[in-house]
Amino acid sequence: AAKAAGKGVSRMFQPEMEARIQERVRLEAKLRDALQKREGLFVFYQPIVAIDTGAVIAREALVRWYHPQRGWVSPGEFVPVAEQSGLIDELGDFVLNAACREAVGWADGARVAVNVSASQFGEGTLVSAVQRALAETGLPPDRLEVEVTETALLGDEQDVMAELRSLRAFGVRVALDDFGTGYSSLAHLRAFPFDKIKIDGTFVRDAVERPDCAAVVQAVATLGRRLGVSTVAEGVETQAHLDRVREEGCSEVQGYLFSRPLPNEHDAPIVEELNRVEALKRQAAQGAQPPAVPAQTP
Ligand code: C2E
Ligand code: MG
Ligand code: MG
Ligand code: MG
Repeated sequence: AAKAAGKGVSRMFQPEMEARIQERVRLEAKLRDALQKREGLFVFYQPIVAIDTGAVIAREALVRWYHPQRGWVSPGEFVPVAEQSGLIDELGDFVLNAACREAVGWADGARVAVNVSASQFGEGTLVSAVQRALAETGLPPDRLEVEVTETALLGDEQDVMAELRSLRAFGVRVALDDFGTGYSSLAHLRAFPFDKIKIDGTFVRDAVERPDCAAVVQAVATLGRRLGVSTVAEGVETQAHLDRVREEGCSEVQGYLFSRPLPNEHDAPIVEELNRVEALKRQAAQGAQPPAVPAQTP
């Protein structure tokens, strides 16, 4: 019976699945195009703040894409497409170079944090990409941070660790991103001397209401202190979130309470124009009705 039901289900969802695959293929083609033309791709920056002093310690580089038909597409959607299609090396290089170039001009000397995907590792490819970006932009290695998720550590773990180790050897910092959402977090902390642990925003947001989540944040902050590693609370949206993670002992914070990710000065007018176009499109789609929500920077 289960088998028959399964068959029925798969037949029922086939058109939907095909449509999804086609959309993915189209997205990949558009992304390839965007990378080739260097069009519609931006890097936004979001401050990471010291909880004691309020000083900006670093800014995280977050990639943004304006799709010619669909408008802003979330990196949660197109980064996986880039990873699966081999475009991630080029996309990663684009972000890395833009981020290093940008950070060189920051008067406050804050570091820049760049996310890297599992597929950017392998046979020293990430190490050479980083070295090239630093050499070309002149950014000192100790002003660059790479953020890796636990998922990136799975698979060729030894190779990834070796690459992270050589990055650290020439002064680049390494952060463990989205801590608590992946597998065997503690094993990873033992296996590699991370400079920073980023506690996933889901724990932070729940910590105000749920004692169990607050306990997780506190445990990670304590662990960080014992290991001599800074701990960043991600996704801090409200004063209540901030009060809570301060109480639990986190050393740095990042989130909408301080700032949304923002484009650099040079890109800001272009982004504003694209947002205006988006707002008009939305308005047109809704007929004569005014938009329910004001146009927002993604
Ligand atoms: P992440 O590295 O964990 O980045 C943090 C995400 O949280 C960002 O989403 C950021 O915009 C969002 N965020 C920051 N503050 C708040 C807040 O207060 N509340 C809420 N709800 N969210 C907040 P974004 O920019 O959509 O990026 C999503 C993910 O995509 C990133 O998660 C990262 O894994 C990936 N990503 C982004 N840029 C790149 C990139 O250049 N390369 C790679 N490989 N991955 C990237
Ligand atoms: Mg990150
Ligand atoms: Mg994160
Ligand atoms: Mg994340």
